[in-house]
Amino acid sequence: MVKLTCLAIGCLAFALCGMVAHAQEISPGMNSQKFQLVVHGGAGTIERSKMTPENEQEYRAGIENALRAGCKILQGGGSSLAAVEASVRVLEDDPHFNAGKGSVFTSTGTNEMDAAIMDGKTLAAGAVAGIEHVRNPIILARAIMEKSKHVMMIGAGAEEFAKRNGIELTDAKYFFTQDRWDALQKMKAAEKAGVDGGKKFIISDAEQHGTVGAVARDAQENLAAATSTGGTTNKLPGRVGDSPVIGAGTYADNATCAVSCTGDGEFFIRAAVAHQVSALMELRGMSLSEAAKRALAQAQKLGGTGGLIAVDKNGNVALLFNTSGMYRGFVGEDGKFVIEIYK
Ligand code: ASP
Repeated sequence: MVKLTCLAIGCLAFALCGMVAHAQEISPGMNSQKFQLVVHGGAGTIERSKMTPENEQEYRAGIENALRAGCKILQGGGSSLAAVEASVRVLEDDPHFNAGKGSVFTSTGTNEMDAAIMDGKTLAAGAVAGIEHVRNPIILARAIMEKSKHVMMIGAGAEEFAKRNGIELTDAKYFFTQDRWDALQKMKAAEKAGVDGGKKFIISDAEQHGTVGAVARDAQENLAAATSTGGTTNKLPGRVGDSPVIGAGTYADNATCAVSCTGDGEFFIRAAVAHQVSALMELRGMSLSEAAKRALAQAQKLGGTGGLIAVDKNGNVALLFNTSGMYRGFVGEDGKFVIEIYK
């Protein structure tokens, strides 16, 4: 039977920072499912007290739709790579999440998106950064992996490559959402008012960031990870976070695990979080859960908040975060979807 344990751990690093990571671990046991699929919609959740039942329902539906898309592929014997792409695509099209349609704004009011995908079987990877007109950045990331000799492409060159490969481009206006625009105005007002004057503009996690991601292990035991984001609200044009950086926000290796992160990209890059989980398993012999906690703690020690989802080669799953919540879901026992937001 699938064993699900929810525990709040308080290791020294977390205690020092006054934060406790919330961790969920699921071991495959006698799971009737021959595959694993986990998705996240970012650790930038709306504060619990401000979340209306209608809103919560919308977020849950978004996660459920993403699980359904990936699950359909895995149930049909499809690859983990196709499944993570499909799940992320659904989240990119959903304005509630900070990726694709719901991307946050830069300081100049533009939307610049990043995404990455990695195949654990071959260690092939594709990533894209700073694109403004590609409807589904994750499709472009996969095309870069499969149809170019490169791993990462940026800006205009990446969009030109998209065009040549028949990937849908869209007017920048498509990415406008009122909530994200309002969040930018609020951040700008806080910035202008300075530290003390900014107190009346308390900026929530949800207003600052978010990201979407998926990890999967298919019936052939191949692992894959995908991540897509609009980055952080009010970021400088040209800023790139951890999501498209292979080894920072996204990583997959059949020898160890597949990981997709969300959080303060600057710290996740410096702690090379996604690859760190894999390296701790491979070189230190840690379990997925131990390695994931350690890697997240390292980002936190530097000052980073966020979370990650991961699946290992044996089908163990980990979902953890040191923020107040993370939109997340996984295919549990009997193929039932488990969807959660807060601790
Ligand atoms: N990691 C993303 C970035 O830094 C943002 C997030 O996940 O909240 O671009």
